[in-house]
Amino acid sequence: MTARIIDGRALAASVRASVKQTVAELAATGVRPCLAVILAGNDPASRIYVRNKSRAGTQAGVLSELHEFPEQVPEAALLERIGALNADRRVHGILVQLPLPAQIRAERVLGAISPAKDVDGFHPENLGALVAGRPGFVPCTPAGVMMMLEREGVTLAGRHAVVLGRSNIVGKPMALLLLRRDATVTICHSKTQQLSVHTRQADILIAAIGRAKFVTAQMLKPGACVIDVGINRLDDGSLSGDVDFAAAQEVAGTITPVPGGVGPMTVAMLIVNTVRAAAQSVAGGGEER
Ligand code: NDP
Repeated sequence: MTARIIDGRALAASVRASVKQTVAELAATGVRPCLAVILAGNDPASRIYVRNKSRAGTQAGVLSELHEFPEQVPEAALLERIGALNADRRVHGILVQLPLPAQIRAERVLGAISPAKDVDGFHPENLGALVAGRPGFVPCTPAGVMMMLEREGVTLAGRHAVVLGRSNIVGKPMALLLLRRDATVTICHSKTQQLSVHTRQADILIAAIGRAKFVTAQMLKPGACVIDVGINRLDDGSLSGDVDFAAAQEVAGTITPVPGGVGPMTVAMLIVNTVRAAAQSVAGGGEER
């Protein structure tokens, strides 16, 4: 069997196109969705991610403004800027690019963002809403995976989904979203024993561990839908996911590539969330929550 390869770039383009109508309606009322991106330090990968997000925003009619800080920035300076952006009615979404420099407490900084502008969905209020099944901003990568599964027509109800990784950014919200769609969900992590026993039961396998080519063909159930969230830089400079793609595509039923899979969907969902934040600010008169 050779798996069908999911084209994340094409799906992301159609997701971005789907917000054009809302962007046009907002423009008619004089509002242009605006995303403020905070970038602290000199991490080269972060710089590339920020550039991609800004470019995708521009294509969709979303203004993005960059707030750069040096590696040694004190936490107070970031908190002060976030306070100013929270109060700025022109700004609808605030994103703090991770990782932050070592002296900065990420929880403090992420927790300072107004939940109404938290388009990355990392604020405890939005994470709590996700747990409780209430509306709120959902972290972009798991939201992008869900959109991908929906658009590909992957049935979730009653099927076994196995999530590798339990980070607050990917693994945990991913598991909650799958649960919300009635999948039976197993979460695996670095202390899980006999990992292959779990992965081989997966109708849907989501790999988000950050280990290049860790998931081998032998770890898959034939015909499974394999979603590879991992982004790992190899010694030769190329990118690899957490799945051994070449071997896995001979066993899986559907599979995402890296690059060109989940990554573009993450960026597209950021645009969706920013446009939604702008629309909600108009509907709510722009006041802070
Ligand atoms: P974290 O490092 O925060 O979490 C990794 C998770 O994987 C942890 O829960 C860890 O377990 C688990 N893990 C590590 N090693 C193993 C192992 N050998 N077996 C089983 N579980 C293991 O990473 P993130 O969640 O932030 O990111 C995961 C990957 O996804 C990375 O490659 C990252 O670059 C990528 N990523 C991609 C995005 C995209 O847009 N495509 C967006 C965000 C991330 P434990 O908790 O026990 O330590």
